Amino acid sequence: MPIFSRKRPPAWPPLTIAADPFEGSCPYHGDCLEGLAAGPAIIARWGQSLSELGSPSDKIELIADYIAHLAANLVLLHMPDRLIFGGGVMKAPGLLQAVRRLTEVKLGGYVRAPQLDPGLEQFIVAPALGDHAGITGAIELGRMAAGQ
Ligand SMILES: [Zn+2]
Repeated sequence: MPIFSRKRPPAWPPLTIAADPFEGSCPYHGDCLEGLAAGPAIIARWGQSLSELGSPSDKIELIADYIAHLAANLVLLHMPDRLIFGGGVMKAPGLLQAVRRLTEVKLGGYVRAPQLDPGLEQFIVAPALGDHAGITGAIELGRMAAGQ
């Protein structure tokens, strides 16, 4: 199930992607989040990663807008304690900051919770373990399941 799609837009927060001519690269949904903002989608769209392109502000804003849409929806649906965004795309300079800023704009002050710090610098973060976060988490889950 796509997280969002221009074909089946969610009611809230409003999408700002109507002017994006890219049809998306997801083989299942086309313009779902994966098809618009994942690394392969960015390369399909522009031929290079955001970092290889030099992280131009217009491209950072577009990709950040998609990710911020996800972040705002996660806040509205689940109110997590923290959102951790990692992976290759998030290494693009300025992207994490743009995601924080645009998430705050999309929320528009609608949600008040102690974990939503001004600027969302404590709420939307990069993984503390960097590229090892996935495997370290998997090992920890295995350790916990084994009762250790
Ligand atoms: Zn998809």
